[in-house]
Amino acid sequence: MKIEVITIGDELLLGFVVDTNAAFLARALAGVGVEIVRRCTVPDDAAAIAGSVGEALDRTGAVITTGGLGPTSDDMTKPAIAALFGRELRIDEEIVALIEQRFRSFGFTGPMPPGNRQQAMIPQGAVIIPNAHGTAPGIWIEDERGRWVAMLPGVPREMRGMLADELLPMLRARERGEPNVILSRTLRTTGIGESALADLLGDDAKGSPDLPIAYNPGWQGTELRLTARNVSLEEARRRLDVGARMLYSKAARYIYAEEQLDLAEVVLGLARKRGIRIATAESCTGGLLGARLTAIPGASECYTGGIVAYDDAVKLEVLGVRTEALHSEGAVSEVVAVEMAQRVAEQMRCAVGIAITGIAGPGGATPDKPVGTVWIAVYANGEFRTHGRVFIGDREEIRLRATQAALDITRQMLA
Ligand code: ATP
Repeated sequence: MKIEVITIGDELLLGFVVDTNAAFLARALAGVGVEIVRRCTVPDDAAAIAGSVGEALDRTGAVITTGGLGPTSDDMTKPAIAALFGRELRIDEEIVALIEQRFRSFGFTGPMPPGNRQQAMIPQGAVIIPNAHGTAPGIWIEDERGRWVAMLPGVPREMRGMLADELLPMLRARERGEPNVILSRTLRTTGIGESALADLLGDDAKGSPDLPIAYNPGWQGTELRLTARNVSLEEARRRLDVGARMLYSKAARYIYAEEQLDLAEVVLGLARKRGIRIATAESCTGGLLGARLTAIPGASECYTGGIVAYDDAVKLEVLGVRTEALHSEGAVSEVVAVEMAQRVAEQMRCAVGIAITGIAGPGGATPDKPVGTVWIAVYANGEFRTHGRVFIGDREEIRLRATQAALDITRQMLA
């Protein structure tokens, strides 16, 4: 099944809100064999909505929209699409009652705002897509030629809930029979550049026509996404397994996780398995590494704490880095990173100490230490591993890349 997705909202076009709905829909629909062949974003404007939906119906005859179903005056989706299908909007008293009920369940007393009644306006002949996650119901409207539009709300949580509860089962029923799925598997690598990774994979770098490999580089590393299309679920899984085995056989050292798993979670998992605790000492990252570790639920089992040693005085007086080390090599040096890692581990009585010191820029560069120079040291059970390099990117990227590299060294030492 091929469909088009239209996300609606001025805020999306203005860049105030990132369009997560379109990406979520793409992933969820691909899993049941529905392919999004085109997507676009239009403003809260009836003519723009009707224009784009009309064109999409002419092309594919199957459209999902999100947004613009709410009670506010800028919510134009229903009237625009009802007009396109030549249907009148009518108030549905059953839905009014449902909305009222929900309204009361939130503890509101007094009359329901008139705007909420608008949510119960349904195009004649349309089917309600129930919304157990919010007030505005979704709408399925279809013409005599079988061309359809499914309208979902813009609120991502509601949209996701309705998709899973209602729309996916509706689409599956419509398809009947075995779905031709599009299934992906993502392996996350770090510590190796995109082209070096392709070199490492050699003849397999592009995958095969049956199972192409896509490369997604970012500050966390390069994601390798394998995608099997238009086969049965079993066959898709089989192909993905074969492809993943090949990638592990050639690049296992760089693969730290699959799908959405964060490297901080991987490191904490290893620490938990080994029964050891971690402390951090951070200069240029100012606590970013600690923040990544503590963002993982249950981090307290293995992460003790950290010292943000931004100023040299903190490196000397709080961490206890030797003055000679700091003065002879400078704050951004291997020797200082090593001392930071060891001291913080000792002070916090942890088996592992991770230290980062660097120049995040845009200022602060010296002739021998350009912006992006970072030294990382990991101390684990009496052993050290250090890593010095120049990271590329702006201040934010350099800091994020530094935390990723530090976590990866820790992962390799604990693995
Ligand atoms: P509401 O009842 O809240 O008015 P709605 O269906 O009218 O729901 P919108 O008003 O368009 O939806 O958007 C509701 C919220 O969801 C807004 O905060 C908006 O920023 C967010 N949102 C809308 N569309 C998207 C999208 N495509 N991706 C991510 N967030 C979105």
